[in-house]
Amino acid sequence: MQKKIAFYGKGGIGKSTTAANVSAAWAERGYKVCQIGCDPKNDSTRLLLGRVCSQTVLEMVKKYGEEVKKEQLVHIGFGGVHCVEAGGPEPGVGCAGRGIIVALEKLKDLQALPEDAIILYDVLGDVVCGGFAVPIREGYATDIYIVSSGELMSLYAANNIAKGVARYASRGPVRLGGIIGNSRGIVNEQALLQEFAKSLNTSLVAYIPRERTVNKAEIHRKTVIEFAAASPQAAIYRQLADFICENTALSVPTPMAFTELEELVLAYGDD
Ligand code: ADP
Ligand code: MG
Repeated sequence: MQKKIAFYGKGGIGKSTTAANVSAAWAERGYKVCQIGCDPKNDSTRLLLGRVCSQTVLEMVKKYGEEVKKEQLVHIGFGGVHCVEAGGPEPGVGCAGRGIIVALEKLKDLQALPEDAIILYDVLGDVVCGGFAVPIREGYATDIYIVSSGELMSLYAANNIAKGVARYASRGPVRLGGIIGNSRGIVNEQALLQEFAKSLNTSLVAYIPRERTVNKAEIHRKTVIEFAAASPQAAIYRQLADFICENTALSVPTPMAFTELEELVLAYGDD
């Protein structure tokens, strides 16, 4: 099954953790899966590979130049998931977004990704600018999901990402698949996220509890799917994975004004 998906969201919100668990759940279902980390932290695929992948596309291109082979860019992780890290400059040096452009072009040139796979881009994006917009702008991903908690700054980032998606949706196949709620345990969080999603002309497609199992799995370098396969948390990730496969309710988002967003957060959070 070919599907081109991207997870966007504020730094530290839970994109990579959710992405790795969803990829692992798809692999369990027997799908061919590629997860592509587009974050200079290079840690998107850590839970699938059991290590931080230092053989990033940019590193390998720097080392081998035109001789680089697709086997050097794609690393096989849990359940056979094809793992790629785009890579990026050292912190404080150069433009991280530029690296994503180079990396995705290289993968395309080498036809490094299987045709019939679900491809999941894990993209850092407080705002959809420059290189971080590439997966959307260049048509690498069409179904966009935004990971957010109910915290104002996470919603602020999510709303900005929705603005970017709306802009590209007007001239191409890019659509918003929904909001993935990753709980921070704040008051009325699920209801707030539901209302936020509704305002954006989309829906809350999952509400993932904040659970210690996630942290335990992380320190063992594993997804929850692998580390605690029978846990309720693993079931939640599987449910999200199935939902994303079957989702046909993709929309053109209608972002909010910041004052509107503040009012929404006040209405739900000020108990
Ligand atoms: P991002 O990729 O958005 O920067 P990460 O996926 O790396 O964020 O998550 C940041 C931290 O939050 C990690 O330590 C991760 O284990 C933790 N985390 C993410 N989701 C959950 C959750 N549902 N419950 C508990 N901890 C979580
Ligand atoms: Mg990440």
